[in-house]
Amino acid sequence: MDPRDYTRSAGGQPPDAYREFDATELYCPNCREAVPVRKHLLLVLPEGDKYEYRCVYCAASVGTKMDHQRNPSLIL
Ligand SMILES: [Zn+2]
Repeated sequence: MDPRDYTRSAGGQPPDAYREFDATELYCPNCREAVPVRKHLLLVLPEGDKYEYRCVYCAASVGTKMDHQRNPSLIL
């Protein structure tokens, strides 16, 4: 049995609401392993903030993430 199925049926809540994705380790192609990353604010856009994840060892960019700000009141 898949343990994720058990969690879903037991909690009764969507997984997205339960745990927000926030990476602390990502694969770095330079270091060739999963490395701790630092989160840098890259861009501030009307639809949200864009973050870049960088390897703490070699400072290579290993990923980006959009933090969508859900402010329906701003959409007029
Ligand atoms: Zn690295």
